[in-house]
Amino acid sequence: MFPIFRPWHIGRLFGIPIRIDPSWVLIFLLLVYQLATFIFPVALGVRFRRGIAFDVIALAVIASLLLFASVVAHELAHALMARVRGVSVLGITLFIFGGVAQIGDEPDSPATEFLIAIVGPLISFVIAILAAGIWIWLQALEGLGTFYRTPLQSAWVYIAVVAFYLAQANLLLALFNLLPGFPLDGGRVLRALIWAILKDQKRATYLAMLSGRGMAILMVAVGAFILFRGEYGGGWLLLMAWFLWRAAGEAYHSLLARELLKQVTVGELMRAPLQRVSEALSLRELAESFASWLRPPALAIDLNGNAVGIVGMEQVKQVERAKWESTRVRQAMLPLGVDVGVTSNDTALHALKLLTEREREEVAVIQNGQVVGIIGREELARYLQAQGE
Ligand SMILES: [Zn+2]
Repeated sequence: MFPIFRPWHIGRLFGIPIRIDPSWVLIFLLLVYQLATFIFPVALGVRFRRGIAFDVIALAVIASLLLFASVVAHELAHALMARVRGVSVLGITLFIFGGVAQIGDEPDSPATEFLIAIVGPLISFVIAILAAGIWIWLQALEGLGTFYRTPLQSAWVYIAVVAFYLAQANLLLALFNLLPGFPLDGGRVLRALIWAILKDQKRATYLAMLSGRGMAILMVAVGAFILFRGEYGGGWLLLMAWFLWRAAGEAYHSLLARELLKQVTVGELMRAPLQRVSEALSLRELAESFASWLRPPALAIDLNGNAVGIVGMEQVKQVERAKWESTRVRQAMLPLGVDVGVTSNDTALHALKLLTEREREEVAVIQNGQVVGIIGREELARYLQAQGE
């Protein structure tokens, strides 16, 4: 992966990492542009004012930031509910279509699935009601003449316009997400209901996937209709349909893959025995070995012949090429002492969870304090491929 496509980590909320995908910048700029050139000038009645409207631009930026904060609140609701229900949460990523809370695991029961799915739209509704409340309240106060000869005399309109916009946008966000197309929130609610009735998660997910694809087809129809009427907004729906179609399939296949990985142990899939290198080797020598005879990753050995760490291309690449000559394996390797591993009796699914949670390519397989092999995404992918997944 090129680093440019990696989401930027911007911080944590309640311990949950928040990331921004580069595609988010595009939608942010589009939103600011749309608000500053059309929606707010119309709402404020300053559409035909001359000169650059700095106040309107500032207002558009503030409103866009508040809208994205609303999206984060929506995703945070999903993430925190998942945590309450004991499902691991990897983080929240904002991207072109809004946000997504990455849940590390499949929910264990229909009730858990239902609760995690429903709280997002619920929070969006609450924000919409609060914003609408502020809008109504400001108008009532203005009607009573409360702002007369105060700083709010002219400023209240600006606040009211933003509040009205946020109410509208959050209402739309809640309603859109409640569409019964998996993996949208509404589709997840649908899956939870089918799952509760059929008592079969796989079958429920299959039917939910069909709901997602059905919704995508509907979006294409509506989007095409709008496009033919000459409105570019229809293109947006087509893009969203494509995204939903793919996401529905991916969610179903990821469930199938999990089912398969549950039935096989780490010991059956791991790569062993591992080749060994001295921890005193320079990274340049190691990289050369990797290029010729040594298959990464290798086990780093100290003078006494004890395994002390694991070193693969991932670790080598973290060091600048210019420093490969002067850097030893011991400085770049993942030391075994602090690194968690899996045992050969663990399920492959457990290994996958660990890889995902730690954003790693491979982990050590440890038995009785000894490294007996390694298991990584490559091994899991090869197994799934062989199983036709
Ligand atoms: Zn949601």
